[in-house]
Amino acid sequence: MTRIAIIGGGISGLAAAFDLEQRRQTARDVDYQLYESSSRLGGVLRTEYIDDCVVEAGPDSFVSEKPWAADLCRSVGLGDQLIGSNDADRKTYILTRGRLIEMPDGLVFMVPTKILPTGLSLLFSWKTKLRMAQELFHPPRAVDHDESVADFVERHYGREMVDRLADPLLSGIYGGESSHLSVRAVLQRFAEMERTHGSLGRAMLAARKKMSSAPKKSTPPLFTSLRNGMQSLAEAVVSRLNSASLLTNTPVKATQPESGGWTVSLGARAEHFDAVIVALPGRAAAAVLRDASSDLSSELGAIQYTSSITVGLAYGLEVRQTLPPGFGFLVPRSEGKRLLAATFVHNKFPHRAPQDRALLRCNFAGNNAESVWDLTDEQIVGVVRDELQQILGRQFRGLHAEPLFARVYKWKSAMAQYGVGHLERLERIETLRKAVPGLALAGNAYRGIGVPDCVRSGRDAVKQLLA
Ligand SMILES: Cc1cc2nc3c(=O)[nH]c(=O)nc-3n(C[C@H](O)[C@H](O)[C@H](O)COP(=O)(O)OP(=O)(O)OC[C@H]3O[C@@H](n4cnc5c(N)ncnc54)[C@H](O)[C@@H]3O)c2cc1C
Repeated sequence: MTRIAIIGGGISGLAAAFDLEQRRQTARDVDYQLYESSSRLGGVLRTEYIDDCVVEAGPDSFVSEKPWAADLCRSVGLGDQLIGSNDADRKTYILTRGRLIEMPDGLVFMVPTKILPTGLSLLFSWKTKLRMAQELFHPPRAVDHDESVADFVERHYGREMVDRLADPLLSGIYGGESSHLSVRAVLQRFAEMERTHGSLGRAMLAARKKMSSAPKKSTPPLFTSLRNGMQSLAEAVVSRLNSASLLTNTPVKATQPESGGWTVSLGARAEHFDAVIVALPGRAAAAVLRDASSDLSSELGAIQYTSSITVGLAYGLEVRQTLPPGFGFLVPRSEGKRLLAATFVHNKFPHRAPQDRALLRCNFAGNNAESVWDLTDEQIVGVVRDELQQILGRQFRGLHAEPLFARVYKWKSAMAQYGVGHLERLERIETLRKAVPGLALAGNAYRGIGVPDCVRSGRDAVKQLLA
């Protein structure tokens, strides 16, 4: 019987536990123990049900293109609960010199694939539009070293594209700044396009042409979620696990190889296992692995994280009728606001709010989250309401009404920042990990911070250990 410890009960650790449970029930040759420091399982997957609204404190969905989260949902019996984003109503606005301007149709991240909507859009100056045309002649890149997303985008489309699109779009995902993020780690596909085609525009047009000659498949919605919220995934996984294998309120202090296996130290006592899966954010992983390998611990600890604050606000029918159509807006840093984004949840997904309610999800990230961190929840809601009024009040009737409810959720150092050189760091981590047999790593510090990537990382960790 192989005994495996899983440290961390977020979705990465739970996905690993789910695979081990399957194996426990079928082959009966493994057992596992999951340690979670807090009182609840699921990590940042947290949903509240308030006045018939489904309010997401952490992630609200995942990209449909990456199949691993939806696969796990199906495996735990939630296949009929999967819901897609209302893409027919998909519109995203960018705050530009104080006005909300719709992102033009045909933009794939920052690459225009339709000439007319981009050419007519008020989002970009003529200078940037000219750069877009020139970009079609961008030569393939000879040097192959990493650089920041900001530098990469600026080389192709100029500074305005960085400020208006690349930076806010990436902040929405990573909570960080495009000048720090590695293009090879976070925009791998675009870096590859540059290597093969030179021009991103040409690469995208070639890909479109190839797709249009392939047999037509119906396009899945861009985002997938669960009818009762993301926490229901964690709950459904937990309901399939052996309850005796789950220990909450049990922080792991350290883990290290000992007597051909691994010791998990809980402070007052220690337990022995054959192998261990560390499914923690980088800094927490670094702390528990300090005695196992100081070099590995240093590499893990060097992965930067930023904080994030999500604010859920509900309003009545009048506000719902006032708000513009679409999924919401992003605020570039140059606009001088603290808010990063607001999602009109009632438009983005079905079943999130009754027909007579508007449900908004507002975000602060990185330095802006830190700048309001020590304020009370009421003060943070005040900042959100002020800025919503400034942003929406000019074009729409604004949001003078009192919210029906407001909730603030703070996530300290929760968003991994894949800095320039991240892939090289991952290679070093992998070498150091292999030097201590019986250790697997999972979580958002490595190859994707989204829920699907975390699920995959947990499942891969099990495969690695049982191989
Ligand atoms: C506000 C926010 C919004 C997001 N939005 C999206 C989104 O819309 N779509 C998307 O795909 N992704 C989103 N993400 C990213 C994604 O949700 C996370 O990267 C992912 O859920 C992380 O899961 P995890 O299990 O790796 O880590 P976590 O959820 O952080 O879980 C780690 C667990 O380990 C526990 N722990 C820590 N130290 C110890 C210890 N010493 N011993 C035992 N247990 C310990 C913690 O209590 C925690 O429960 C978002 C993240 C945040 C914070």
